[in-house]
Amino acid sequence: MRATLLHQAGDVRVADVADPKVQQPTDAVVRIVLGCICGSDLWPYKSQPLTEHPRQMGHEFLGVVEETGPQVTTVKIGDLVVVPFTYSDGTCEYCRAGLHTSCEHGGPWGVNGVDGGQGQAARVPFADGTLVPLPVGEDSELLPDLLTLSDVLCTGYHAARTAGVRAGESVTVVGDGAVGLSAVIAAKLLGAEQIILMGRHAARTDLGRAFGATDVVAARGEEGVAAVRELTGGRGTGRVLECVGLKDALVQAAGVVRDGGTISRVGAPQYPEVPLGFPEFLRNITLTGGVAPARAYINELMPHILDGSIRPGRVFDRTVALEDVAEGYRLMNDREALKVLVRP
Ligand SMILES: [Zn+2]
Repeated sequence: MRATLLHQAGDVRVADVADPKVQQPTDAVVRIVLGCICGSDLWPYKSQPLTEHPRQMGHEFLGVVEETGPQVTTVKIGDLVVVPFTYSDGTCEYCRAGLHTSCEHGGPWGVNGVDGGQGQAARVPFADGTLVPLPVGEDSELLPDLLTLSDVLCTGYHAARTAGVRAGESVTVVGDGAVGLSAVIAAKLLGAEQIILMGRHAARTDLGRAFGATDVVAARGEEGVAAVRELTGGRGTGRVLECVGLKDALVQAAGVVRDGGTISRVGAPQYPEVPLGFPEFLRNITLTGGVAPARAYINELMPHILDGSIRPGRVFDRTVALEDVAEGYRLMNDREALKVLVRP
């Protein structure tokens, strides 16, 4: 089959790799119908040293079950399924606690003999624990929306949930990428009354307004902090969702959080130390968040997509064929695209 390989920074190629097959009785093989490129794929795309063992890329996908091992019971051949961005057994202590990303037998796509999601098919370990059937057909126009259950919508939702967003509250979302925009959707779903989106790209913040942002602050740094405080009676917001992953974004989050409030960070941090020192200690700031256990949220979020009340798939503004995936990476890396669908 054809799959996306990252050889080194800036060098993404589509190549022939071994066809996936059921190897364990709990495996399934999924023919990929729709995949996409994640903002987090851009970190290795920017920095990966040359390797003789290029990894298969992609971790957000949905597709049709083509083969199942003898112990698989919850999905069957022909089912359309969405695949969360890590696989998990669904039975260990962490999975039962809803922290599937810490699964004792789980792992990421594209390494350790597991396929990636930007290809024609993938072997799915622990199919019962990992896959979630979709109650629509392969030709449904909701597929891009449902694909966001794989990662980006669940990641935004994780930010809002771990920050403790409740009805009637004020929330700041730092970052107007696909995760930040998903966090706006999530904050609105949880009933936030004021949602301040911090971002500088008008096309993206306009989409953020369509998703429920009540205010947009384009300024950054001290100026951005001052603008948010002006919108909130000088105090900032009790919940701040940091959806970037850079140190400056966390500093900004600390600047706009109300004393006693909570910052949740879901942008994969590109910094080793958390810049929260004595001044933030004096303000009783809580820092939470982390990698999102997408599998835990899929069943909860899917009905909002099926009934049309949210359209998170609007974050996809470009589509490329699998053979053109390198162009998709370039478009996202150059910020010509917000998020790119990949059609095998
Ligand atoms: Zn587990």
